[in-house]
Formats: sequence, C-alpha cells, structure tokens
Amino acid sequence: METTLRGVGVSHGVAIGEVRHMGTAELEPPTDRISPDRAPRERERARRAAEAVAADLVARGNLAGGEAQAVLEAQSMMARDPELMADVERRIAVGSTAERAVYDAFASYRALLAGAGEYLAGRVADLDDVRNRIVARLLGVPMPGVPDSDEPYVLVARDLAPADTALLDTSLVLGFVTEEGGPTSHSAILARALGVPAVVALRGAADLTEGTLVAVDGSTGEVTVDPSPEQRDELTRIAEERKAALAASVGPGATSDGHKVPLLANIGGPGDVAAALEAGAEGVGLFRTEFLFLDDSRKAPSEKTQAEAYRQVLEAFPEGRVVVRVLDAGADKPLEFLTPAEEPNPALGVRGLRTLLDHPEVLRTQLTALSRAARGLPVYLEVMAPMVADRADARAFADACREAGLRAKFGAMVEIPSAALRARSILQEVEFLSLGTNDLAQYTFAADRQVGVLSHYQDPWQPALLDLVAMAAEAAAAEGKSCGVCGEAASDPLLACVLTGLGVTSLSMGPTAIPYVRATLAKHSLAQCERAAAAARASESGDEARAAARSVLSGE
Ligand code: PEP
Ligand code: MG
Repeated sequence: METTLRGVGVSHGVAIGEVRHMGTAELEPPTDRISPDRAPRERERARRAAEAVAADLVARGNLAGGEAQAVLEAQSMMARDPELMADVERRIAVGSTAERAVYDAFASYRALLAGAGEYLAGRVADLDDVRNRIVARLLGVPMPGVPDSDEPYVLVARDLAPADTALLDTSLVLGFVTEEGGPTSHSAILARALGVPAVVALRGAADLTEGTLVAVDGSTGEVTVDPSPEQRDELTRIAEERKAALAASVGPGATSDGHKVPLLANIGGPGDVAAALEAGAEGVGLFRTEFLFLDDSRKAPSEKTQAEAYRQVLEAFPEGRVVVRVLDAGADKPLEFLTPAEEPNPALGVRGLRTLLDHPEVLRTQLTALSRAARGLPVYLEVMAPMVADRADARAFADACREAGLRAKFGAMVEIPSAALRARSILQEVEFLSLGTNDLAQYTFAADRQVGVLSHYQDPWQPALLDLVAMAAEAAAAEGKSCGVCGEAASDPLLACVLTGLGVTSLSMGPTAIPYVRATLAKHSLAQCERAAAAARASESGDEARAAARSVLSGE
C-alpha cells in the first residue's frame, strides 16, 4: 500500500520512477578482528569482490568507449593488482576482515601514489573509487558515487554537493529527493537548473528501499511510495495541467499595471543557457562561476578557458543583461587550492570575496578573462562580488575591477546582514546590489543552510529577512541604483510579488521557475504587491507572512 512522505518541494513538476541511492562517498569498515579459522573465507570474499569490481569496470569501459574506456580499464587493473591483493591477504592472515584489509591495503598504496609525482598523484581519486567499490560490495551497500543505472531513476541522497553531481548523467535523473538540505541547498539549485522535480529535507529518505517506485511532487513536497496506477495517472494529469497554464505566459516580467520587473536566470555555465532562453529569461541575474572551477581541484582554470565560457554566455544575450558573480569558493563550495583545510566554522570563515582578496591573482585572472570575453560585444555586463560585508570590501572589489580594466558595472551581493544594514554606505563604492537571500537567511538566523532540521529558518518568508530586503531596496532607491534578488526567494511566485512590493528591481532564479513567476506577477498590480509586502512584514512568522500575503493577493 502506498504511503506519502512530506518534505520541502523545491523544484516544480512530478517525477515517477524507481529509487536509486547515491552511495556514501567514503565507507570506512569497522576494525573488528576475526579468528584465524575465518581467514580462508575472508580471503575468498576479498578475491571475489575485487574480481567482480574489475569485471564490472571493464564492462562499463566497453560500453563507454573512447577515453573513458582507457580510464576504466586502468582502474580494473588496480582492482586486479597482484601486489595489492597480496597485501590484502597478509592483513587478513593477521586478523583483519576482508573489507578492512582492502581498506587498509589501498590506504598504504594510496600514500605511495600521492607522493609519487604529479601524474601518479592524479590517479589517487581513481584508486579511491576502486577501493570504495570493493568495500561497498563486501559490505553489501550501494556503490559509492552516482548510481549505476542505464534506466531513468529518482536520485535519493543525504545531500548533494556540486562535486558529487559532476559525474551525474543528467539525462537519466527524473527527480531528486534528499534527506538533508533546504530550499537553498545545492541539490535544490541543481534540480532547478536541470528542470527536474525535487523534494529536500525529507525525513526517512535514506530508508527508502533501492528500486522502490516513488512519485515525487516538487510543487507540494510530497513523495508517494508505491503509488497506485490511479494515483500515478492523477499526478501526471495535475502536472500536465500546471504545464499548460504556464505555456500561456510569455513576454517580459511586469505587474498587471505594467511596472517592469526583469526576470533573469541563475546559471552555472554555458550549459544552462539553452534552458534560460527557452524559459524566456531577459538575461542572466546570477552566473555562478564557481562551477567552472570544479574540474580541477588543484588550480584555477586558465584565463583562456574562462574567457571562452564567459563569451558563450555573453553571446547568448546580445541585448540582455548578464550579471557575473566572481568566484564564490569556501564553506559549502570548498576548493582545495584556495579554501583553508581546517576551519572551525567554514560558513563563517574565509569564503567568497574574502578568499579572492587573499588570492588576488585568482580574482585578477577572472576579471581579465571577463574583460577579454566582453570585448567587441554590445552586451550589458555587470560583475558582482559575493559575501561583501562592508564598504571596505566593496571598495576593494571595485578597485580590483578598475585595475583589471574591466568595462562593466560593479556590484555587491547582500548576503551578510551587515551589508543590508549599511547598504547606502556600500552603494558609495558600487553601482548595484543583488540580494543573495539564501546566505542572507543563513546568517540572519545563524542556521546552516545545509542542515535539514534547520530548514524552517531558511524560509525566505521570515519577516526578519523581508525587513533586510526592504532596507537594501530602499537604500538603492535613495541612491538611484538597482537592487535585485538572485537568491532562491525569487523563484517562489507569491514571494516574487512581495519582493516587488518591497522595491526590488529585478528577480533572478533557476530558469524553470521563470514562467511560474511571470504568470503570477502579471496577475497583480504594483499597489497590490506593496500591500502584500506590508502585510507580510507585519507578521510574526514565515508561515503567517505567507498566509497574509496570499490573503491580500487572492482577495483582490
Ligand atoms: C545566495 O546566497 O542567495 C546566493 C544567490 O548565492 P549561493 O546560493 O550561490 O550561495
Ligand atoms: Mg550565497
């Protein structure tokens, strides 16, 4: 019989498919000791598991072909390495379980590789993957990393980091369900970027049985386990109806009385441009450039590589606005060569602009690459810094832009409450503000955006957050400058009306949300949005604010 679980819906639509779990990145088996009479059995288990993994890698290589085949075959040889296997057997002989012996033998080989020059050190990740596969097989748990499947599936994970998803075959992912995370976690952002339905902060997600059929409703946050055929039909019908209603909404973003609110797209790279254009984005309001830095954890992409990626995005919006955010490394997006390894509180540590001011050469390369990419294009380029805390930060960023000879508007993201409180002073240094409501909520409520049980603090309807938004928007209006929102708050159609009522001048969101926001905004006048904003701010909680705004907007 079906059961329905409820989490937080973060990416619209309905997905129906079988559960595939994201395997744990690193499995450390317990250090239990075995009696000598069990050693032959453990040796046999270890041998068989290693051989099965090697054969599986060869089979995948045959399927993939090309460069991937060479990598997978090299990995299969690691699994069959006679010296490694001899070490495993020695460890079993002195009391290790098969899984622990594999884990430890690979660890000592790993240390050798890591110190053996750049090429071999680069193979460490491949070796770790082989070890994880053998250990997972011995423990009888899902294979680490992205699921092995040739059929489309619903991806279930504790949470997804950008690095986890780099290897994901997105054509197979029907939807996401995560145990952790909130509306602003990277799983949510990625799901919206891919346009697949997603539910986060779903308690019990980790316990869903592999292969079970689930229906994921990313609008309501409901996940139905083992839905009946009637329920499946009903959900599919609802999803189709929602889609049809949206297809009717086209053109630039505006309220019913013509107050323009440009609707822009949040993107992670040139690969997201097509979805942005298809959704009718009027430009890009947030280009998260850190995704370009994920390919190599040891160094930044070259100026040329960056310039090519920027140019592709700029060329896609010849008339539109493109707001590029310089690298936001650190906290939940650490980069090995930039982020300090041991920070007691990474979200409160060296991240965003702080990282770049510590590594001016990385910022310089990025700004020079942007300048090169924009050369000769009529595009309206804007560049902004993440995690600006005060006027000195804003000035340091603007100075770096000027020194790099960048011809663009320079802006500051408002993600730290101090920046909202002193927005007018920051605007003495830069030309626009962009509210990153995800981090602004995290820092206003002192609630880690990655922790599922705190997700209610990430609710962007919280009146305290709305007060800070209003403060920044008013400061920008007083200075005659613009103040957009590029956090996930902008993708909630009702909240988009409230933000407009608070004086926000543009809204940037995952492309799939644009039609929903456009359709809702077009139904209400600016005065109605302002009344809804006042009612929301007069509330005492996020839930009350949402209800108050809904009642104002639906009662008119
Ligand atoms: C934000 O914090 O709201 C934001 C847009 O940046 P990111 O989600 O990439 O931290
Ligand atoms: Mg942020």
